Amino acid sequence: MPVTWWCELAWLPPGRLSRGVALTVDDGRFSEVREGVVAPPPGAARLRGLVIPGMANVHSHAFHRALRARTQRERGTFWTWRQQMYATAERLTPDSYLALARATYAEMALAGITSVGEFHYLHHAPGGAVYDDANAMGEALCEAARQAGVRLTLLDTCYLHGGVGQPLEGPQLRFGDGDTARWTDRVDALKPDATIRIGAAIHSSRALRPEEMADVAAWAGDRAAPLHVHLSEQRAENEACLAAYGRTPTGLLADAGALGSRTVAVHATHLTGDDVRLLGGSSTGVCMCPTTERDLADGIGPARQLFTAGSPVSLGSDSHAVIDLFEEARAVELDERLRTEERGHWSAQELLDAATVAGQAAVGWQDSGRLVVGALADFVAVDLASVRTAGATEAKAVEAVAFAATAADVRTVVVGGRTVVEAGRHVLVPDVGAELVAATEALR
Ligand SMILES: [Zn+2]
Repeated sequence: MPVTWWCELAWLPPGRLSRGVALTVDDGRFSEVREGVVAPPPGAARLRGLVIPGMANVHSHAFHRALRARTQRERGTFWTWRQQMYATAERLTPDSYLALARATYAEMALAGITSVGEFHYLHHAPGGAVYDDANAMGEALCEAARQAGVRLTLLDTCYLHGGVGQPLEGPQLRFGDGDTARWTDRVDALKPDATIRIGAAIHSSRALRPEEMADVAAWAGDRAAPLHVHLSEQRAENEACLAAYGRTPTGLLADAGALGSRTVAVHATHLTGDDVRLLGGSSTGVCMCPTTERDLADGIGPARQLFTAGSPVSLGSDSHAVIDLFEEARAVELDERLRTEERGHWSAQELLDAATVAGQAAVGWQDSGRLVVGALADFVAVDLASVRTAGATEAKAVEAVAFAATAADVRTVVVGGRTVVEAGRHVLVPDVGAELVAATEALR
């Protein structure tokens, strides 16, 4: 039966504010988007503030949520942080992963995230033993997303080597399938459904050899599935790649046939001019994760250059130092300002595009991210009268959201026509904070 929501103000494509919009949903999709409706139609729920499409968190490692505030105090680098991350990875079981991911995805829903790209490499038991169900860990993530009411794209990650020419060791043994044939067999056993899609990932130029990258790219190509890859987050990985292959990681991916419009390069921090041309020229997407990149002292990727060259830009909270896509979005512009000492590289509209329509496409939900007839009914109401957003004129609502709102300003979240968050409370997970406490305590 069709259900209608009435929006005081909605952000409609292509970047247009409209007052009084009735969104009617039938069978999980918008069946009608009616503008100029001055008052709520009978029976329609009223949405205050600005209604935007559901946001996509394109790059997530759910288990990193357990590290929040524990790894922020030390001196060190990405590589010292990685040791702590591995210590948490060693302790997870399918049950504890389900509990942690359920709470983490519920936190995302509260932040207005309706789709998650989970870059999943924690496949096997400690030491590398295969669980009775070889996909027990991936299935736990899928179930967690279902329980939290969000869409999930499980980006099953092929991770075979500990570094260029090095075997997996210690905690990394859980990540490995041995070879790409066994990775393929395992991933083919995963089943998508109405809210779960399956994609692939190449962990990095450290973790796969060129011929293995080509195998994973071919798997994704045959299935028209998203293909994600960590790219040039660290200078050391570029140096190791150049020393071993005489190519940058981007060049290596291009040679392996791994670039293209269904591919998303995550981070893309330390690139050459040729790398930017290869990525943009092939319409390869890039996912920026600014809150993680600054937390890990990675550097600032050339997001605007990549966008201008032809790469769609999307956003991810990656290590979940914070989960707030508004913060990721404005950081793309604000980091660029710090680097260039100039303002105004990205408009608020472009930043919200990265969080919504571009992000949804990056994780394979091309039918989400826009408030149009036929699209999946995924939408979010953001308060324009909170202490953070109040005072902006209606005409500047998009700027208020992109540059001042936080996850705490998300009031209502609807995924496929089902209300997941109402009045800032998760409908399916009654106490997200308590579940986060319990799930992280269990891993200490
Ligand atoms: Zn990552």
